[in-house]
Amino acid sequence: MPTVQVKTVFGDVKFQCQRCGSCCHHRRPPEFDDLIPIDRLAEFWEKSNLIYLTDKDIHNISRRSRKKPEEFVDTLFKYNGDSVRVEDGGKKVILDLPVMKSKEDTTCVFYKNGCSVYSVRPKACRLFPFRVEEETTPKGDILLNITYNPTCPGIGKGASVDKKRLEKLVVDQFLHRTESIFPKVQRLVAEGKIDRCAKIYRTLPGRKVHPAER
Ligand code: SF4
Ligand code: SF4
Repeated sequence: MPTVQVKTVFGDVKFQCQRCGSCCHHRRPPEFDDLIPIDRLAEFWEKSNLIYLTDKDIHNISRRSRKKPEEFVDTLFKYNGDSVRVEDGGKKVILDLPVMKSKEDTTCVFYKNGCSVYSVRPKACRLFPFRVEEETTPKGDILLNITYNPTCPGIGKGASVDKKRLEKLVVDQFLHRTESIFPKVQRLVAEGKIDRCAKIYRTLPGRKVHPAER
């Protein structure tokens, strides 16, 4: 049975948000295609700062803002609450995880001189400038390594980071995400719809190059 381990991979780091708003500007690195192979994910995470949403985030924000998920959720394919797609006869598994939509100027759709959904902001926003780099060991165990974005001007200011609180946030985020993905993947595997050697891809959402599916 694979295990999941969470760990902060930095020493004593101080952080206090300076409310500069820079993390509400979302970068979508142009050098990546719509589908990102797993072996380029670390590079993708390094160059982007998209806000990934769990189903619970979407539910809370929708209720609070009175907007339909389609109004603030970005996916590559048409959003229908299902993040797992299988193509090429089971040889390609695509995880189209929802991210927060951005305006033309790259700011988050909820950014209006600050966050307009602050009390229900996504877990990814609560985590920033800390982020998770997932790693799978040869045994299939999952390591959730917590790092941070050194360009955030809040790093090095204020009090030392409470690592326990950070780890709990990461575990919650991981559980909420896997709750919506794993059952579907397990069912597809049991039905023989995913090839044992399938390649896994993540998407670069918001590009919408599949207009037929919109
Ligand atoms: S977390 Fe960092 S980048 Fe985001 S608003 Fe605060 S200081 Fe700015
Ligand atoms: S939800 Fe709020 S904190 Fe998060 S990116 Fe949007 S405006 Fe910024």
